[in-house]
Amino acid sequence: MLFAHDTELALRGAAALVNTAPTLPTDTEDLETVADLDEFLREWEWTGSRTGDPAELEAVRELRPRLRQLWTADTDTAVSLVNELLAEAGALPQLVRHGEWSWHLHATPPEAPLATRMAVEAAMAMVDVIRADELARLRVCAADDCQDVVVDLSKNRSKRFCDGGCGNRANVAAYRARKASS
Ligand SMILES: [Zn+2]
Ligand SMILES: [Zn+2]
Repeated sequence: MLFAHDTELALRGAAALVNTAPTLPTDTEDLETVADLDEFLREWEWTGSRTGDPAELEAVRELRPRLRQLWTADTDTAVSLVNELLAEAGALPQLVRHGEWSWHLHATPPEAPLATRMAVEAAMAMVDVIRADELARLRVCAADDCQDVVVDLSKNRSKRFCDGGCGNRANVAAYRARKASS
């Protein structure tokens, strides 16, 4: 394991959140409705308070472009953004355990607004990434027609494609190209 388990989960969760946003002209909004958000939160096992209203959905959507910047920014810019997210939320790191999760960090109380908690969880994970000088593990999918963000947690830093099937498509394309040239 590269980072602590809660850091890795938070990074993957933040990437998944960023990837719900429409990027290319053909791409769709995956958080269209409050029900879509409910589903996303279930999938990523988010707990804590909810308002479940359109304002909450809107706040979560608006967080996405800010988090996306972490995948494309240089270190100095990423540091500013992380510090900004933590300061805005008045983040206060506390060790907690709940449900099946052993000791891990929360830096917002469970009653803080959802988008705030999501912002801080991502920012806290980025603190680990930046301190370990591993920002290069956050990148955009290598497929020409895909803008999804990727967290490369592999030992040999070999993950280039998102989990949306781009790796398979690239393999098939490479295979066809090899076949055509032979
Ligand atoms: Zn927790
Ligand atoms: Zn992709």
